[in-house]
Amino acid sequence: MLSTIRQAVILAGGEGLRLRPLTNRVPKPMVAVNDRPFLEYLVELLKDNGITEVVFLLGYLPEKITGHFGDGSKFGIEAKYSTGKVSDKTGTRIRNAGQQLDGTFLLLYGDNYYPLNLKKMLAFCIEHDTLASTTVYTNRDGKGEYGTENNIYVDVDGHVVKYDKGRKDPKLNGVDIGFFIVNKKVLELMPDSDFSFEEEILPLLVKKRQLAGYQTRHRYHYITTLASLKSTEKYLQPKKIILLDRDGVINRKPAEGDYIKNWGEFSFLPGAIEALRLLTEKGYDIFVITNQRGVARGLMSINALESIHRKMKTELAKHGIDIKQIYYCPHGEDEGCDCRKPKPGMLFQAASEHDFNLTKAVFIGDDERDRQAGEAADCPTTILSPGEDLVSVVKALLKSR
Ligand SMILES: [Mg+2]
Repeated sequence: MLSTIRQAVILAGGEGLRLRPLTNRVPKPMVAVNDRPFLEYLVELLKDNGITEVVFLLGYLPEKITGHFGDGSKFGIEAKYSTGKVSDKTGTRIRNAGQQLDGTFLLLYGDNYYPLNLKKMLAFCIEHDTLASTTVYTNRDGKGEYGTENNIYVDVDGHVVKYDKGRKDPKLNGVDIGFFIVNKKVLELMPDSDFSFEEEILPLLVKKRQLAGYQTRHRYHYITTLASLKSTEKYLQPKKIILLDRDGVINRKPAEGDYIKNWGEFSFLPGAIEALRLLTEKGYDIFVITNQRGVARGLMSINALESIHRKMKTELAKHGIDIKQIYYCPHGEDEGCDCRKPKPGMLFQAASEHDFNLTKAVFIGDDERDRQAGEAADCPTTILSPGEDLVSVVKALLKSR
């Protein structure tokens, strides 16, 4: 049984006409994003996911890519190339690289970024046992985010049952963002003529029930247009982000079944203020992610909760500490909300609203629900053990970074 994927294949041959004049002298994937070629971010992402070999499928200005990546050793991977005509369509490029392809490989577009978790995706793929899997952004925040409408329907079993490039069908539930896991047998379905992988092969796989849809809530970013390039640039800027649970991490936890209902009941834990001060000094943006079911149980109002948070922020400001934003879930367990931990809704909301990558942030909590929420959001998570204070964990974190 397949247990790892070592090879990634990047479609990097197009002309990038919509990005002119930036693509007059370099191919689109080499356009600078925060002064680094976009492709470097992708290669780094692949390397971090255990990929050891990258096959670049080239067409337009191939020497700009071969010259930059060489044999790949400078980037910690082995680089291979397959070069075709500028006008070749995506499917043709993949078919023509056939000799170089592993039995199963990861296929991605050279102009699209999302914080891939290959291990999770591969587990999903093995479970579904289809010829290919694609990654589907759930687009929960509503149709048209980033001007992109849904173009795919994934059924409850995780199979793609509709792929509609025209985006007309109202019953669609996500956006196909590539990052495919492909069994090489797919090449047997390919025509000899010039063809597009998305337009010809994906619908064929859907028809055969051979395309699984790995759904993700992580936002994706692409560099197709100047506007999307700008937003990608913001997202890929290096950031220092820390997410903290509140009760039991920042302040003393109330007794089981009780809640902090007013400022009088709130007290900072030993070391918490020092920890927040250290994080602030090191340039971290601090967010709080907290369940406050006491609201749903009628033990306090939203106003009372927000008043506690205002006072907490005022108190911390005296120490030069700024809490960027506090996300709270006021719901009860049976309300079916999307935010109450162990669900990861608040983490995704913070990441989306503040343009950061959860896989590069850190979440610190004090119970099992925090651990599960962090895991579901692919966010590295530390759980304080009983008696352990925030400052020791923060000091260790700062030392390791
Ligand atoms: Mg807690």
